Amino acid sequence: MSTLLEVSGVTVSFDGFRAINNLSFQIGPAEMRAVIGPNGAGKTTFMDIVTGKTRPDEGHVLWGEKSISLIGMSEAKIVRAGIGRKFQKPTVFEEQTVQENLLMALRKDRGPLAVLIYKPSKADLEHVVKLAEEIGLADALLRISGEMSHGQKQWLEIGMLLAQDPRLLLVDEPAAGMTPAEREKTTAILVEAAKTRAVVVVEHDMEFVRRLNCKVTVLHGGAVLAEGSLDHVTKNQDVIDVYLGR
Ligand code: ADP
Repeated sequence: MSTLLEVSGVTVSFDGFRAINNLSFQIGPAEMRAVIGPNGAGKTTFMDIVTGKTRPDEGHVLWGEKSISLIGMSEAKIVRAGIGRKFQKPTVFEEQTVQENLLMALRKDRGPLAVLIYKPSKADLEHVVKLAEEIGLADALLRISGEMSHGQKQWLEIGMLLAQDPRLLLVDEPAAGMTPAEREKTTAILVEAAKTRAVVVVEHDMEFVRRLNCKVTVLHGGAVLAEGSLDHVTKNQDVIDVYLGR
């Protein structure tokens, strides 16, 4: 299988403390991956490296068929290269409708508020309807985002990222604070998204990880402790020791 993102031998230190220690990670172009690990394992720093927020001290971060190095590239350029990141807290424009939020995401090139002034094209409106269907909000296009549930806002934000058509989507704890029904819908949205792009889900909730039904990478001490199916990694003695704090 071809590789979309290849992280190899990456090390990051903060004031002499190694937050990431010789980390290697690969993901293919239409692959779902869960990244788990206890607090302080390096999950956030890993995402910061891939999105250009943190520059590694050592190692390589290579992207796409041409294996372009992402190290030293600006965060904005990395977004344009096709890497989208969803933080835990949704950051939708609360006073705008679902449709307006999706249009803004779709036409970011015109500036975030320009769609409120310019008349969107028929193609843009059709694209927005398709995005709304992908995130289960087709019936909520004209709803004010701020009046929707936490889960619906999270889906809208996923839709706003999908509007940018990323080749890799990094999602931080998408199921946090959701009801079981919302979690199920979030799973379906992410599984669908991963059919055409790579999706990395950083998650604490093991039940949610089980539902994603994908390969799991366990981080600990800034390195990969185990990798494989959830059943495989949860039988690994090192993983058991780390999770039980032995
Ligand atoms: P996780 O997301 O898995 O909880 P992090 O990537 O946030 O882990 O952190 C990994 C380690 O690096 C932790 O020990 C954390 O305290 C440390 N760390 C992260 N960012 C910084 C920073 N900016 N300065 C100092 N230490 C940091």
